[in-house]
Amino acid sequence: MQLQEKIFNAGIVGAGGAGFPSHIKAKSKVEFVLANGAECEPLIHKDYELMLNFPKEIMRGLELLIDSTSAKKGYFGIKEKNAKAISAISKHLNGKTELTRLGDFYPSGDEFELVYEATGRLIPPAGIPLDIGCVVNNVETLYNIALAEKDITVTKKFICVAGAVKKPSSFFVPVGTSFKDVVEFAGGSKVSELGIFVGGAMMGHLTFDLNEVVTKTTAGIIVLPKDHYLIKRKNQPEESCHRIGKSACDQCSYCTEFCPRYLLGYQVEPHKVMRSLGLTKTGAAVWNEMAELCCSCGLCTLYACPEDLYPKEACDKAKVEMHEAGIKFIQQKEVKVHPIKEGRRVPLQQLIMKLKLQDYDVDAPFNSEKITINKVRIPFQQHIGKPAKAIVKKDEVVEEGQLIGKVPNGELGANIHASISGKVKEVTAESISIES
Ligand code: SF4
Ligand code: SF4
Repeated sequence: MQLQEKIFNAGIVGAGGAGFPSHIKAKSKVEFVLANGAECEPLIHKDYELMLNFPKEIMRGLELLIDSTSAKKGYFGIKEKNAKAISAISKHLNGKTELTRLGDFYPSGDEFELVYEATGRLIPPAGIPLDIGCVVNNVETLYNIALAEKDITVTKKFICVAGAVKKPSSFFVPVGTSFKDVVEFAGGSKVSELGIFVGGAMMGHLTFDLNEVVTKTTAGIIVLPKDHYLIKRKNQPEESCHRIGKSACDQCSYCTEFCPRYLLGYQVEPHKVMRSLGLTKTGAAVWNEMAELCCSCGLCTLYACPEDLYPKEACDKAKVEMHEAGIKFIQQKEVKVHPIKEGRRVPLQQLIMKLKLQDYDVDAPFNSEKITINKVRIPFQQHIGKPAKAIVKKDEVVEEGQLIGKVPNGELGANIHASISGKVKEVTAESISIES
C-alpha cells in the first residue's frame, strides 16, 4: 500500500492547528519537505516535548514524506533555544535533511515565515507552499505518519495544558476527551472561575465551556482566571471592538509596521482596514482589500497597538464581508521582503510580558502515565474539507482504532476512528459519543 493511502486510512490531518488532510500533501511532488517544530504560541510546549521524547518517529515520518513526494531535501525548522530537542533530533538526521535554526520570535511557526527562513523562497500572495515546490508538516503530523506506516490510526492527540493549572504538562489523550478531564489530568485548575484558550493565546479561540473536546488539531489549552487581562481583551463583543476602533484609532500605523505578513512583502495594512471603520457611518462595514492576505496572527491587536484596539478583528471582519460580496484582492506588486524585517521581529519573551502571561511561563514536561477516559465525543469535522459520515449506529460496540466515520466519496476530508473501546451512546449531526 502506498504511503498516501496509509495516511488517508489513518485519518491524519495537520496536527499543528491547520487540519489539512495529510494524504494530499503525501501525493504531491515537491522539491522540499519541511518539518515544522518552530512552535511559537506563548506557553505551548507540546512540539518541544514530542521532539524530545519521540525524535525517531518524527524523523521516520519526515523520511517517508521525502520519499513519497520525491523531494530532494528536507528542512527541519526548530528554535535554537531548544538545545535538548535539537540534540535529540540531530541523532536521527539523515543525509537529506538539514536543520533550520530559528530565533525565539513570534510567529516563527507561520508557514510563510518558515518556508522563507529555510529556503529563501516567498509563497505567492494567497498561495500555498506547494506553489513554490514545498510542503510543510507539523512534527506531530510526522509522528502520526510514522505510526500510519504500521497501520496505526489517529486516536490520540498530544496536547500541552498550561496556565493556571496545578501541573502544567504535555500528554496524549484520546481524541474527543473533554477539557474538564484534560484539566483534571493536569492537576486541576488553580482557579474556580476560568476561561480557556484553545490552541494558544494568539491564534486560538476562547471558551468557557469545559465540555468542549480535544480534536486532532488541538495543540494545547491555556487555562486562565476569568478576570485575566487576555480574557477581557478577547471577550470583547465584536460590535464594540469596531465601535471603539472607529472612535479611537489615531492611524499611527504601528499595527502595520509590526505585521509579519507586511514585513514579508505582502500587501497587508491593518491601519488602512481600521481607517475604513472611521469612514463609514456606523463602523459596521469594514471592507478593505488590505485585509485579504492577513493570517490572523493577532500581533497587531495583542502586541502592536498602543491603544489596545482591535485591528486583527477588523481584518477578520473585512475578509468575511469581502468573501460574502464575492470580492477577492489579488496582489499585483512583487512580494519583496521589507528591509527592516529583521529589526521588527517580536521576541517571544516580550510578547509574553505584553500578554501578562509571565507568571505562567513554565515548562510543561511530558507525562507518560496512561490516561483512562471512559467517555469521549468525537466530532465529524476536525479538519479542512467535508465532515466525515458516521458508519456506526447507537448501541454498537466499537474497538479503539476502529473506523467510525468516513470521508464522503471523492471529497476532501479525513476518516475518524474510535478513540476508546466501548459502546456508541449517541450519533448526532455533529459527533459520535462513545462510553466504555
Ligand atoms: S496601531 Fe492601533 S491606533 Fe495605531 S493605526 Fe493601528 S489600530 Fe490604529
Ligand atoms: S493579524 Fe494583524 S499582524 Fe497578523 S497578519 Fe493580520 S494584520 Fe498582520
